[in-house]
Amino acid sequence: MGVSFYNFTELHNDEFKTQIKQRINDIVDKNAFIEGEYNTRFEQRFAQMQKAKHCALVANGTDGLEIALKVAGVKAGDKVGCPGISFFASAEAIITVGAEPVFIDVSPETGLMDPESLIRVTQQHTLKAIMPVHIYGLGAPIKALNKLCEERAIEIIEDAAQGQGGFLEDSPIGGSGHLTVFSFYPTKNLSAFGDAGAILTGDDEENETIRQIRNHGRSAQGHALSGVNSRCDSIQAAVLDLKLEKIEQYNQQRKQVAKWYHERLKEIPVQLMPAQYLETSSWHLYPILTGDGNERIRLQTHLNNNAIGNALFYNKSLPEEKPLMNFKGEKEQARLFAQKALCLPMNPFVTQSQVDEVYNVLKSFYF
Ligand SMILES: *Cc1c(COP(=O)(O)O)cnc(C)c1O
Repeated sequence: MGVSFYNFTELHNDEFKTQIKQRINDIVDKNAFIEGEYNTRFEQRFAQMQKAKHCALVANGTDGLEIALKVAGVKAGDKVGCPGISFFASAEAIITVGAEPVFIDVSPETGLMDPESLIRVTQQHTLKAIMPVHIYGLGAPIKALNKLCEERAIEIIEDAAQGQGGFLEDSPIGGSGHLTVFSFYPTKNLSAFGDAGAILTGDDEENETIRQIRNHGRSAQGHALSGVNSRCDSIQAAVLDLKLEKIEQYNQQRKQVAKWYHERLKEIPVQLMPAQYLETSSWHLYPILTGDGNERIRLQTHLNNNAIGNALFYNKSLPEEKPLMNFKGEKEQARLFAQKALCLPMNPFVTQSQVDEVYNVLKSFYF
């Protein structure tokens, strides 16, 4: 039968299609293409959902990271700590603003930035900021990182591109008050019909600056600074605002799928994400860790042969990517982690019997 990795047919079902077409017609009738009423509505509701004071929509997550770095005062020549396990855009945004990524190693269990590695790296490098990533939707250890960064006057910009609906130790992701950046790329938990992103912050002044930068530095009194064009289209905002109705339900369904996997895969000799994340992760992805890279390649072939959707997030650690190879820092755990991680089908519509099917295919590989 097979199990697909994503399920856009269910996500964009007939009911959703009817509703979104009405909204798009309405936008066309009103000629309100950029930063319209849906933008304002979505910004307010998304800030509420993530328990942040402010939310500003931008054109995509990568722009969001760049703008957040600028707002945090990161300038050319500064060093910014970045985990070795993330999507390329995390390190890329640091380079685009003229700064230098310095790799902080990750926990071998989760791929999240390791505070112990941060301590060691700061003995070698003066960091202006760090960019913890809530990879797979797991909350990075923000409390521990916060303490270390406060002692060292280091800014924190959270990459929450995969974290819509996820939780830190004691608040939703985005509720820490830090600059926190989300992506609404079509495969993310909350997704647009193309590119979109958002920056959350607890600071009024930062929020104003973000709003100026995203729109060519415009302020009420003319151009206050030289910014960029990173406005969000009304159509994307209308899609996001409509999808907010269901995001909590869909994230609950993802959590249920993660729990089914966690229960079912106990006897399979692969490493699962620690049980402490079952309730808090946004479960954007469901990674398992194989024994080594060789085993992962063979397992992937077996899954493909049995039509079980899967993906390598990430095939290589960031420091192994050609444009990032010469940057310094600690990289070893990220390298090993990237060889072992393989993601199983995860979306709100995976059923218990599909989890059983994945389990049976894994069982036939290992036993
Ligand atoms: C998707 C993603 C981004 C980039 O977001 P875009 O909207 O595609 O620019 C950045 N970081 C991580 C961890 C991501 O998953």
